Amino acid sequence: MKKLDIELFKKYKRLSRGSWGKDFTLWKVMYIEFLKKMKDEEFTPPMELLLNVFLDLGKARKEGTPIIMYPFNYGPELFYAMDLAPLMQEMFSVGLAPFHSNEPYLDFTNKIGYGDNPTLCNAQRPLIGAYMQGVAPIPDLLFFLSTPCNPLSVSYQVFQYLTGVPTFNVDLPYWAYDQASEFYDEKTMGYMIDQLKNLIFWIEKQTKQKFNIEKFQQTMRLLNQARENVMEFNELLKTVPCPANSIAGFSNTICMATRGGTYDAVKATKYLHDSAAENVKNGVAGVPDEKIRIAWPYIHIFFDIDLFPWLEEEFNAVTILDLLGFYEPVPQDTSTIEKCYESLALGTLDFPMIGTCRGPIEYYIDFVLNYVKDYKIDCVVFPMQLSCKHTYAMARVASEAIREETGIPSLIFGCDPYDSREVTSEAIRKRISEFLTQIVM
Ligand code: SF4
Repeated sequence: MKKLDIELFKKYKRLSRGSWGKDFTLWKVMYIEFLKKMKDEEFTPPMELLLNVFLDLGKARKEGTPIIMYPFNYGPELFYAMDLAPLMQEMFSVGLAPFHSNEPYLDFTNKIGYGDNPTLCNAQRPLIGAYMQGVAPIPDLLFFLSTPCNPLSVSYQVFQYLTGVPTFNVDLPYWAYDQASEFYDEKTMGYMIDQLKNLIFWIEKQTKQKFNIEKFQQTMRLLNQARENVMEFNELLKTVPCPANSIAGFSNTICMATRGGTYDAVKATKYLHDSAAENVKNGVAGVPDEKIRIAWPYIHIFFDIDLFPWLEEEFNAVTILDLLGFYEPVPQDTSTIEKCYESLALGTLDFPMIGTCRGPIEYYIDFVLNYVKDYKIDCVVFPMQLSCKHTYAMARVASEAIREETGIPSLIFGCDPYDSREVTSEAIRKRISEFLTQIVM
């Protein structure tokens, strides 16, 4: 695998030349910082994909391609099929967290009275302050969903108010589409598909373009290839020792949430899949001398990107997948346009965090129980975000169910994964360390 050497570094730096517009200044700074951080690392397809996401937004702004902003819990395939430039918003507002560069905007948002830590989520809230200071990307269109939480949908309404751009909102149905489920409702699929068709009409109207059925089918076929790679990758991770490190699953979701439906996503997910498959074949562990297998059925501590490597080094502990990294939509029949709509709807209903959080608590409990059993997990860690009020009870009930059915211990603690000042990295590491040494080992 080639490295991001000085030649490649210069090439990617050159590609960012020219003005991307004032509102993309910070986005460009993030790109350059990311590029610097990656210098001399292996130049992998997921890395290439991320660089392209940054660059394509700058290019879109220069060339006048409409930019649509959307949250992390939706795949952009339809947007690519309709020649839009998709901007996954949290790549900006959460992408600042590892550098603590989101914190001044959080403080500013606080000062002007837009919620506080427990009422709105700091995954989205820095953008409010960043907009008011004129340093956040202003899209041409805005899209969001009602799930996974009220803080997200409220924040997106504030973005709509601040930017004044045309907005489309999808309401996620509560009930199951699977006839075998006790929560099945025959209206679920139709309700979802109708809204996605309305989204297509809305984009047509906003961009004055005609929906291209062939391009959409081609996009959905590419999406299938990537889904296939991810599905097999998830299966490979059941192997003992786990053939991937703690961040690989999350990389898959980043690929699907930023590039789903493109060749970039097929290539990056294939790379992750092939690396894991090769390791299984050779009996190589993602974390050498694996001793503990952790399930992490919630979100990462985004301000502390060294937390997983620290767990790997200190405890030989591999974190296998996580709630966001567990991308579950499977390949679907794409032979007709109606089947493609169905595939799009299923991907929306099953997207990470949506599939588990859009309905009765049983969706989440079943997910965690299967996760623990299928991946031969030794312990479960639930870092509960302070503003995820809808999930407080969910984590407690799920941990009880895990203990009763499997005897596996859980750790639940409150924190703000986006703000290092609420519960510090040291405090989080101390809690996990005590749990692993005193209960798990
Ligand atoms: S972390 Fe919780 S509150 Fe924040 S966006 Fe995700 S589900 Fe919503």
